[in-house]
Amino acid sequence: MARKQTRPSATQQAVLEPLQTTCRACGSHMRMGHHSHRTVTTLQGVTRLTLKVYRCRNTQCPRFHQPTRPEEEGGWALPHGEFGLDVIALVGTLLLSLIKSYLSLLDQVSQSRAGQDASVL
Ligand SMILES: [Zn+2]
Repeated sequence: MARKQTRPSATQQAVLEPLQTTCRACGSHMRMGHHSHRTVTTLQGVTRLTLKVYRCRNTQCPRFHQPTRPEEEGGWALPHGEFGLDVIALVGTLLLSLIKSYLSLLDQVSQSRAGQDASVL
């Protein structure tokens, strides 16, 4: 479903950086390639993430020019997701309780019908 309103602007900002800035393949020091930006909505608010993406500059390395993104990014949201993992967990919990409530209601209705059918006989 397409968004009908603009997304709320970020209320917080965070800068994320990889834990290691040495290449895991060759061990040479990586340089920062570029900044990447994401906006993630969590239960605490809307956060604008600035991600420092590093790349190995060693041309002999198998990871040459491969991006190394901050590990912490995965703790915020799923790849390409705009909602945080806490929002997804909350929606899942609420949906599960809604389904359980619906199934319970359905069970009560079917028991009630079974009772009515037995009384008719
Ligand atoms: Zn390397």
